Amino acid sequence: MIKRFLSLLLVLISPSIAYAEAVPGGVYTWPLPTGADSITFNGKPVMIHRGHALVGLPITTEPGTATLAYELDGNPGQHNFEVVAKAYTEQHIQIENPAMVNPPAETLERIRTELSLQRSLYAQFNEPVIFNAFRQPLEGRVSSLYGHRRYFNGQPRSPHSGLDLAAPAGTPISAAAPGVVTLARDLYFNGYTVFLDHGQGLITMYCHMQEILVSEGDTVGPDETIGLVGTTGRSTGPHLHWSVSLNGNRVDPQTFMAVFNEIQ
Ligand SMILES: [Zn+2]
Repeated sequence: MIKRFLSLLLVLISPSIAYAEAVPGGVYTWPLPTGADSITFNGKPVMIHRGHALVGLPITTEPGTATLAYELDGNPGQHNFEVVAKAYTEQHIQIENPAMVNPPAETLERIRTELSLQRSLYAQFNEPVIFNAFRQPLEGRVSSLYGHRRYFNGQPRSPHSGLDLAAPAGTPISAAAPGVVTLARDLYFNGYTVFLDHGQGLITMYCHMQEILVSEGDTVGPDETIGLVGTTGRSTGPHLHWSVSLNGNRVDPQTFMAVFNEIQ
């Protein structure tokens, strides 16, 4: 009886429980059956880490059954899992510069071009980069969580697609993990921005920098400084906006960090 209770307790506190729940904007973790490969979600390949599939779920995912496709000994298979609803909070932000709420017509083409560039970078699925830890880029106060439904000057906008970390201007920002710099430039909304591609569809973005310290094409190592905190672009004060993208979907950086680091 005690033994059974203890094993039940072990199940309850086992780390797999922490990431078992699949929510919109979260990461679904699936320990792969032996021999399974070619794992896809919505037709796109997914990241494999230590024998687990890590699947980024779009924040727009409807609760209900979702499906992973895979192959086992050349035969197609399907794995179903349940996505449960998550209530994200609301956030109202007052922006002083009206051009950042409703951009002037002459900037629209620039914004469109930048959006399509970012989309194409998020869609990449490159060779795996091997690393064992995925870290928050700086120790700062969390000033806005992922998933907030946001209003700029009362006007509804897309949910917050990253995590905001407030820190004094000039604070060093380090790479969450080793990777390749696929973008290092000034964007209209994001300000001075860096994209890091970590392979297998895992891409991180760092925005609003005061200064960028890497160049496109550079390879960065673990914890390497890639820039300094600033408030460029659509920003109300010095902070880092940090996004984590997995199989083309921006997911909760705190969830991804926990899930990745828990799998041993
Ligand atoms: Zn942000």
